Amino acid sequence: MNPNRFRIEPGTDVDLRKVPTRSTEGFDGDKVAGRARTAELVSRLAELQRMLFAGSTERLLVVLQAPDAGGKDGTISSLLTGVNPQGTRVTSFKQPSDEELAHDYLWRAHRQVPAKGEIAVFNRSHYEDVLVVRVHELVPEKVWSRRYDHINAFEKMLADEGTTIVKLFLHLSPEEQAVRFQERIDDPAKHWKFRMGDLDERARWDDYRAAFEDMLSRTSTPWAPWYVIPADRTWFRNLVAAEVVVSTLERLGLRYPDPEPGIEGLKIV
Ligand code: AMP
Ligand code: MG
Repeated sequence: MNPNRFRIEPGTDVDLRKVPTRSTEGFDGDKVAGRARTAELVSRLAELQRMLFAGSTERLLVVLQAPDAGGKDGTISSLLTGVNPQGTRVTSFKQPSDEELAHDYLWRAHRQVPAKGEIAVFNRSHYEDVLVVRVHELVPEKVWSRRYDHINAFEKMLADEGTTIVKLFLHLSPEEQAVRFQERIDDPAKHWKFRMGDLDERARWDDYRAAFEDMLSRTSTPWAPWYVIPADRTWFRNLVAAEVVVSTLERLGLRYPDPEPGIEGLKIV
């Protein structure tokens, strides 16, 4: 599958109502075939990560955004099956702490970007500052509206300094969100994932859609592209996410570092 079909070309005006959430476009196969392909990609990802870690020259940042129950946690656990925990870091961005609020909104994100040899995954991110913050009017429009430019400049700086950035938006339908919320309510093992406040967020679906559309339209750049992944089917979401991340890493031409001179043919006695 060529994951480029899911990439938002810079300057596109995104209308999420026209983008499918349930399709399996680009893959000719069923769920079983999709899962098998995902397993191959995920093991390739583990191998690429070993080379990235060994080489200690490249950095990868994966940003995940989605509506509630969009599948961020599931995508992360699927993608990172098999990677070495050393060299991989997942950061979940929650409501900011007092210390975080005392700084500019990019401060907490910048502290978590990958070092050389690392893959960093952002479960939510600095984009919350143009999503929940916008929808709840936590700051005036004048303040959030200039953040798209800040974010593009911040990500450009990271990219110029050697960080590869890929951003995944999990595109869920409100119908599928309802199904997943109901599961969280009905299954005691999933209660912890549900907060009553999730219903207030759901009631603001259209406001979030508008905020997601502006995010995608204004911050998909050549140096940090957004991919919109149909997310109603878990297996397809995991497949596309793996394709995007693996194809991004393949482009880096990673390989294991050269051995120290004299190692070839050396026999340990
Ligand atoms: P969860 O991902 O379900 O653990 O929820 C984390 C919550 O933190 C979500 O409701 C987010 O919208 C919220 N959150 C994340 N970043 C921010 C932010 N910058 N300002 C306000 N709320 C945030
Ligand atoms: Mg939640």
